[in-house]
Amino acid sequence: MMVTDIRDFMDDDSSPAPGRPGRLARYLGRIVMSDFAHPPGELVETGVLCRRRPGHRRCTGYIRVVRAPDTGEVEWICPECGDCGVVYNWRGTCWDIQKPLWPH
Ligand SMILES: [Zn+2]
Repeated sequence: MMVTDIRDFMDDDSSPAPGRPGRLARYLGRIVMSDFAHPPGELVETGVLCRRRPGHRRCTGYIRVVRAPDTGEVEWICPECGDCGVVYNWRGTCWDIQKPLWPH
């Protein structure tokens, strides 16, 4: 279980850090964004392909997510290889698409 504060991999609210940490931030960001169309507490299959390569072959699993209704933490799991984790502190980042992009 990988528990991640997504801001650990970002330079600021909208910029992933350079290199590997930034790639992880973008991956986790896509997972977070995939969940917004669904109510909290619902297990959602996303279009995000698992990042793992067990035995040097790309895992074919698509990440599933569920967002905690109270904390907003996003739990994710790959049904193929079992890779899983929790992402938090994503509110206010560029992947928080509940945030208005411009003032109304
Ligand atoms: Zn996988």
